[in-house]
Amino acid sequence: MRVPIQDRLIAGLRRCCQALPDQRRGKNTTYAMADFALAAFAPFFMQSPSFLAHQRHLETGHGRSNCETLFGMSKIPGDSQVRIMLDPIEPALFYPLFGDIVAELQQCGGLDAMRVLDGHVLIAWDGTEYHCSDKVSCPNCSHRKRGKTKTEYFHTLLAATVVAPGHNRAVPLEPEFIEPQDGHDKQDCESRAVRRWLVAHGAQYAGLKPVYLGDDLFSRQPICQAVLDEAAHFLFVCKPDSHPAIEEFRAGIELDELTRTVRRGKQWTTYRYQWLCDVPLRGDAKAMTVNWLMIEVLNADGEVTYRNSFITDMAVNRDNVAELAACGRARWKIENEGFNTLKTKGYHLEHNFGHGQHNLSAVLATLNLLAFASHTVCDLGGRAWKAARRELVTRQGLFHCMRALTCYLVFPSWDHLLETLAFARPPPLGP
Ligand SMILES: [Zn+2]
Repeated sequence: MRVPIQDRLIAGLRRCCQALPDQRRGKNTTYAMADFALAAFAPFFMQSPSFLAHQRHLETGHGRSNCETLFGMSKIPGDSQVRIMLDPIEPALFYPLFGDIVAELQQCGGLDAMRVLDGHVLIAWDGTEYHCSDKVSCPNCSHRKRGKTKTEYFHTLLAATVVAPGHNRAVPLEPEFIEPQDGHDKQDCESRAVRRWLVAHGAQYAGLKPVYLGDDLFSRQPICQAVLDEAAHFLFVCKPDSHPAIEEFRAGIELDELTRTVRRGKQWTTYRYQWLCDVPLRGDAKAMTVNWLMIEVLNADGEVTYRNSFITDMAVNRDNVAELAACGRARWKIENEGFNTLKTKGYHLEHNFGHGQHNLSAVLATLNLLAFASHTVCDLGGRAWKAARRELVTRQGLFHCMRALTCYLVFPSWDHLLETLAFARPPPLGP
């Protein structure tokens, strides 16, 4: 029988962890390096900050715990040990696992369900804060003034997330950590982070035929050019205020237009699209040309309820303008399915799990993104996972029951746990 998907993903993490550099000297090697990373990952995967504490209780009573049976840990290290051991680790050492997750997604057909515009995959970029404190700081912290006397320290990352319009799943890819230097503003930092991301991962994901999405910060020539250099496509928000050259060029030209009125329940909604091809992106002689499109949503009274405009390198025409606009709007999914889930629905990306002296907060953010990506793949391709999710209806329902059961019972395997959650098998007997 094939190894179930969640077991494959966790085994992949364990293999990756075994190769982590171990800087301990002497005899203090009771724990394997993998135990530390898995001890940090397991609470994110179980959506339970107190998972390790419960498992220590179980280990005392039963002689073993779900850390051993479900996560393959040999022992449960203490929280402070975990933080000390992970602080010097480079988060990039975990990045190969994001590639494994995309491969799983391709195999289970989950990626095909997210393809748009004749086989393309949308990858949305967005900057987000993942650690904030007025007490602890490190050399990599950004800072800002709060009030008259307070300084707030924070860390940000550039997230890259696979999204699709009308699809309620999001799959985080490798993040790029933003460490601002003096004299660089937010726009400059994100712009550099995006280009570093493309250099590091652009070739790896070229096979997905990616279309990169981003907000108005990204619709600048150096970023557009960097995307084209990777033989990929872009579809960026383009605000009129920040692109005067486009506005000037557009003035006085009669634009192509498409209007569609659709009925949603009792409400009539009108979608109005306009587009124009071969527009110079900037005012100078070296400006590249891009294609511009606009969407307006009007209610039954003719009032505009939504308006946005985009630029892209892809051809825009009457047949694809509506889909392109829907794809451009899918970027908000990174807010809804991506970051909102990460920040409010159990992943607590903004919660300060630990800051460390070097990389700890970045390592923990990476493991949190990996847990989120793993859950999406399990939701789409895990047989037992899907059955449990069907019975418990929501993601929160599934994790609520998973937390409760693993608090008191040791499950010999993930399938045993998931089949119990799906009411397809009785829970294991106590010792
Ligand atoms: Zn810091």
